[in-house]
Amino acid sequence: MPWIWLRVLLALTLAVGGGLLGHLLGGAWGYALQAALTGALLGVGLLFSLDMLRGHRILRWLAESLNGPPPAFAGFWGELAARIERALRARERTADAERERLAQFLSAIEASPNGVLLLDASEQIEWCNQPAAEHLGLDRQRDLRQRVTNLVRAPAFVAMLQARAFDQPVQIPQPGGRGLLSIIVRPYGDGQRLVLTQDITERERADAMRRDFVANVSHEIRTPLTVVAGFVETLTNLPLSEVERKRVLALMAQQTQRMQSLVGDLLTLARLEGSPRPPADTWVPLARLSSAVELDARSLSAGRHRLAFDWGDGVELAGSEPELLSAVTNLVSNAVRYTPESGQIEVVWRRRAEGAGEIVVRDTGPGIAAEHLTRLTERFYRVDGSRSRDTGGTGLGLAIVKHVVQRHGGELLIESTPGVGSCFTLVLPASRVRAPATRLALQP
Ligand code: ADP
Repeated sequence: MPWIWLRVLLALTLAVGGGLLGHLLGGAWGYALQAALTGALLGVGLLFSLDMLRGHRILRWLAESLNGPPPAFAGFWGELAARIERALRARERTADAERERLAQFLSAIEASPNGVLLLDASEQIEWCNQPAAEHLGLDRQRDLRQRVTNLVRAPAFVAMLQARAFDQPVQIPQPGGRGLLSIIVRPYGDGQRLVLTQDITERERADAMRRDFVANVSHEIRTPLTVVAGFVETLTNLPLSEVERKRVLALMAQQTQRMQSLVGDLLTLARLEGSPRPPADTWVPLARLSSAVELDARSLSAGRHRLAFDWGDGVELAGSEPELLSAVTNLVSNAVRYTPESGQIEVVWRRRAEGAGEIVVRDTGPGIAAEHLTRLTERFYRVDGSRSRDTGGTGLGLAIVKHVVQRHGGELLIESTPGVGSCFTLVLPASRVRAPATRLALQP
């Protein structure tokens, strides 16, 4: 408000000044009144022209998007330019902060492993993040403003959008048959849709494996249980001779033993899955493992095979003794169980390049056809089911071996030729093998 009065005062001063000057000059010629009016008008006009000029410079500064400082005027125009600049700069800062927040928000959505897709009211793609584009096989630039149902044609997804049935997620195959997607759609705003996609390939695979596992365990336990139940009934209802009774009891004991082995192996697997990695600084002498393994092999073979052992120069292995023992015993027990009488079984310790080591279990058994080799370590996978069960196998042995060796940072290699024999190699990394010489040298 004070600026207005100052402007009015200035205009009056110029008008009065101009009028007086006109009166003085015009009086000499006898036109005092006309000259005074003209002088007053010229005074006000001068102020008006100056204002026009300053207003023009401020408009030009605004048109140049606030480039540089505002024109430096004193008084009313200077104050006007400064206030405009302050207001505009404050708005610019707010817009920058909003832009920054939006960018952060979008990069957070971008970092999500799940896909996010925004659809407008006519189901055209407004925006999508990279995972959504990968999941649905979209091109983020090219497919913008395209109707999503023209690009994603999975019937379950199209039906969901058409029926507006958004309460349940749908599952659709990923384009190119790469896996399985779960899709959730949520309406928002003015008819828009938020589409969330999640790759559930792994989860589904794990679920299927768990279902198979439970079915397999139930089957494996039910069979001997049915046999035992049948024998119990026989013993209860039939008058058996002493010889028959003994035979039935022996068969019952065999089936019970089968269930015990199965439960034992299942517990071993559960322990392996639930316990931390074996220690890297607990050293187990191979000699201690070897004597236990040899004892077990000789008792299982009962003189039916030619057995040969070569444990090298007595190294030490870092890890869990019971786990390593169970892995080697499983391999040797398989060799004994699957190799026919008078076959040869060889167990050898060897150093590999760069300090690693391996325990090789080789037999002259029936061998395994190539198509089975990659599946042998799956739980309950058997090449010959009846042979495995007849010899007390649970179908879990090699799964245990693989688990143990991987927990020790090594790997299980399997080579086999049908009709010739098999060779299972348990490889341990250099960090888990040390020679006694090294140990002695390090001792003070
Ligand atoms: P199982 O308890 O049935 O022996 P494993 O997991 O130890 O279970 O072995 C899986 C399958 O691999 C066995 O059923 C058998 O068919 C095959 N197999 C394992 N070791 C040998 C071997 N040394 N010779 C021939 N076949 C073998």
